[in-house]
Amino acid sequence: MKKVVVIGSGFSSLSAATYLAQAGFDVGIYEKNDTVGGRCRQFTKDGFTFDMGPSWYWMPDIFDDYFADFGRKTSEFYALDRLDPGYQIVFEDRSLPIGASVEAIAREFEAIEPNSGGKLKAFLKKAATNYEIAIKKIVLRPGKSPLELITPETAVRVGQFIQSVSDEVKKNFKSPQLRSALEFPVLFLGAKPENTPAFYIFMNHADYGLGTWHPKGGMYEIVKAMKKVAEDLGVCIHTSSPVAKINVSPSGKTTGISLHDGSAIEADYVVSGADYHHSETLLDQAYRQYSESYWSKRTFAPSSLLFYVGFNKKLDQKLLHHNLFFDTDFKAHAKNIYDDPAWPEDPLFYANFPSATDPSMAPEGKEAGFFLIPIAPGIEDTQALRDHYFKRLIERLEAYTNDALEPHIEFVESFCVNDFIEAYNSYKGNAYGLANTLRQTAFLRPKLQSKKVKNLYFTGQLTVPGPGVPPALISGKLVAQLIKEVAS
Ligand SMILES: Cc1cc2nc3c(=O)[nH]c(=O)nc-3n(C[C@H](O)[C@H](O)[C@H](O)COP(=O)(O)OP(=O)(O)OC[C@H]3O[C@@H](n4cnc5c(N)ncnc54)[C@H](O)[C@@H]3O)c2cc1C
Repeated sequence: MKKVVVIGSGFSSLSAATYLAQAGFDVGIYEKNDTVGGRCRQFTKDGFTFDMGPSWYWMPDIFDDYFADFGRKTSEFYALDRLDPGYQIVFEDRSLPIGASVEAIAREFEAIEPNSGGKLKAFLKKAATNYEIAIKKIVLRPGKSPLELITPETAVRVGQFIQSVSDEVKKNFKSPQLRSALEFPVLFLGAKPENTPAFYIFMNHADYGLGTWHPKGGMYEIVKAMKKVAEDLGVCIHTSSPVAKINVSPSGKTTGISLHDGSAIEADYVVSGADYHHSETLLDQAYRQYSESYWSKRTFAPSSLLFYVGFNKKLDQKLLHHNLFFDTDFKAHAKNIYDDPAWPEDPLFYANFPSATDPSMAPEGKEAGFFLIPIAPGIEDTQALRDHYFKRLIERLEAYTNDALEPHIEFVESFCVNDFIEAYNSYKGNAYGLANTLRQTAFLRPKLQSKKVKNLYFTGQLTVPGPGVPPALISGKLVAQLIKEVAS
């Protein structure tokens, strides 16, 4: 039985481990933290439950496909609710609820811009076609060659790789609010909509077409489910086991890993699901494929300032499960994330109250609040800065709800750049990997297979296909496929 060591236990690692175990490999996972799940960790305090990372469950088909590959069903592991409205966008003068049907969303669009409802339907038709092409064809390719992108369907859509999502949206909608609403989904890919190829409007189908779901008990239920699938397949999971080195023989083949406690684990193949940059630092210099200068020139997805807040009362009805506060100038904020890294003057932010729809997330009569401000990776992170932004955030929330919330805060915990680095060995504290820009798409991303070390592979949000939980599941499947091919 060939042995595989998997570094890290994020979604991509869990996915790779399960597919490899299913194919008959002897698989061991080595995770530095004391729990599995990577950036999808759970924090519990005084009866409150918080997902520390991802909170949007999009593309349920990808999760269903993953479990089906193992003869299992998503519903075996957790109950899913489709949220209606899925979320709302709070603008300066109104809020825009995104309902669970295209008809409902089209009505809201019409109220903002005449004739935009019909245009939205046409736009979503195109987005749905792109989704079919992207998910059924392109995304399942390993990013080895540019030819992978050329299919009969993409050949007639070359313009969509040259134009940006912003161009596509602007062509169809005049209202700045509707434009922001339609540009929001691609923020999950880590770059500005003007730098993201128009083809990626398939994210609008993921959003309006497939909907926003909530796994009862929170996103960590997905991790628990994948851990169960892994254990059922015989994967050995070692937590609190930070990897110190990827060992390489003089013939340029990996022989396994060494842990920080000095023990060595031999393996025929090593797959690292830790951040790609960090994974390469586990190798001697001669075996690294990408230089520091390479990494410093990439566009990374933002880092984030996060707050986990326990409120001792239920909050205003005006706040939904997911709320995007787009009531400030996004262009100025985006400039501080991507072009001129600095703390934003007036940030937009995301507020998540899972207990608004799922009573299991907070004690009765109380509310769990999770807040996220996207920021540039690598910027200064101090307690004073965190306190300053928390105060501003609560003031804006109080103004929106017309309610004094500060006296009702039981506790606040925060997480920012320094924590991302310490907890996950994240490059510059990025929250969700390497952005999917035109120059960082598919075969232009860091490779799944090392060019310098035989039998060494990488998976996760810095390689193909990119950031997000569904792509992480696919990334693990792709890397397992590559190993199965060479091993057979
Ligand atoms: C705040 C936040 C919000 C997000 N929101 C969403 C969302 O709503 N929806 C969505 O789909 N996606 C979201 N994402 C993105 C999504 O969570 C990630 O893209 C995905 O979880 C990444 O999985 P991964 O396996 O690539 O990496 P990770 O989850 O980072 O896993 C890597 C693992 O490697 C471990 N590791 C690192 N170094 C070592 C070492 N030396 N030895 C052993 N182990 C090591 C780390 O501890 C970690 O467990 C969000 C991310 C964040 C941070």
